[in-house]
Amino acid sequence: MLVGILKETGTEKRVAMLPGEVAVLRKLGLDVIVETGAGDNAFAVDSAYLKTGAVIAERKDVISKSAMTLSVAAPVEDINMYREGQIICSVLNPVDNKVWLENARQKGLSVLALDLIPRTTRAQSMDILSSMATVSGYKAVLEAASLLPRFFPMFMSASGTIKPARVLILGAGVAGLQAVATARKLGAIVEVFDVRSAVKEEVKSLGGRFIEVEGAKEDAAAGGYAVEQTEEFRKKQQELIQQRAIAADVVIATAQIPGKKAPVLVLKETVMNMNPGSVIIDLAASSGGNCELTENGRSIMINGVTIIGKSNYPSEMSSDASKMFGSNIINLLKIMVDKDGSMALNMQDDIINGTTAVHGKEYISMRIKQMLNIK
Ligand code: NAD
Repeated sequence: MLVGILKETGTEKRVAMLPGEVAVLRKLGLDVIVETGAGDNAFAVDSAYLKTGAVIAERKDVISKSAMTLSVAAPVEDINMYREGQIICSVLNPVDNKVWLENARQKGLSVLALDLIPRTTRAQSMDILSSMATVSGYKAVLEAASLLPRFFPMFMSASGTIKPARVLILGAGVAGLQAVATARKLGAIVEVFDVRSAVKEEVKSLGGRFIEVEGAKEDAAAGGYAVEQTEEFRKKQQELIQQRAIAADVVIATAQIPGKKAPVLVLKETVMNMNPGSVIIDLAASSGGNCELTENGRSIMINGVTIIGKSNYPSEMSSDASKMFGSNIINLLKIMVDKDGSMALNMQDDIINGTTAVHGKEYISMRIKQMLNIK
């Protein structure tokens, strides 16, 4: 089977697979065709791909010849170049790409949505949401540390003692926990809010202080994810966050609810009361933001507080982020590819079923049907 690797468009710097991972694909018995310059922004040149035995070609040839294309973002502009039976494997962003997905279904394409991989133990090694969130949590803290006009660690010097910075982390999922670990390593004092009590021990074990707000709604059926909270809880939480944010130098906001707008946790009033020079990094910016003032894709300063609305830190760490992304895809392909290098989508497998958005002109994944309200 021939697998194609596409060059990303726009500002995205990652590539779906680096040469090191392409070599692993070749060992699985797959042939690989790579779009010219696909790895350039992740510092992987065409000649490195050629050394793995892959072929380099123009985009239209990669798409027309491949049985399956790999990319970070869905190739939304290129759908007309695909034909029935081909497989697209990428991040889908189903809510934004609903119309595109419907076109792909009607054309008889198969779409493997990497952001739909079930979050089960067996699928952990294929989970791009987790690997990319790890990058985001780490990089967000580094950006905050470089923007903050103060030290992160405590400093004792001849010119006196400098107190450590205080970092407030909202949401202790994968990105939040990585942010706790990174901020602690840099010597900051870390406080954390989350609505899932299960994360309390993890936060503590990383050296953070978990701040509990009583009355959080949890739902075991949400598969480990958070659910929307009552108005009463939200008010209580916003007040407590305001108290802690005023005492903090940095806020890293990561709270999200799958398929919904991100909860607003930091109000305008809170920002107005924060210390000038403080930094808010809002990783939930693309789903509405956890801070009322966040502007997606922009860096703004209000009342001396810098607010960064950025959701795509992995693109800024294109080398390791691409490496992790490619490894995740390989682990997924390993359960799909036969010994002779041919591939079958076995819909009885919960991971394949859960990840396949459309196949054979049908919507397959239960989650996609729920998200897009398809009966
Ligand atoms: P996410 O990006 O959807 O959300 C980030 C965090 O924000 C979550 O911890 C969530 O509880 C929190 N949050 C949501 N609303 C909030 C609010 N109003 N106030 C404060 N916090 C709020 O989550 P994620 O990081 O993708 O994953 C969440 C969890 O899913 C993980 O911690 C884990 O339990 C589970 N998970 C399992 C696997 C697996 O088993 N393979 C993989 C990844 C994640």
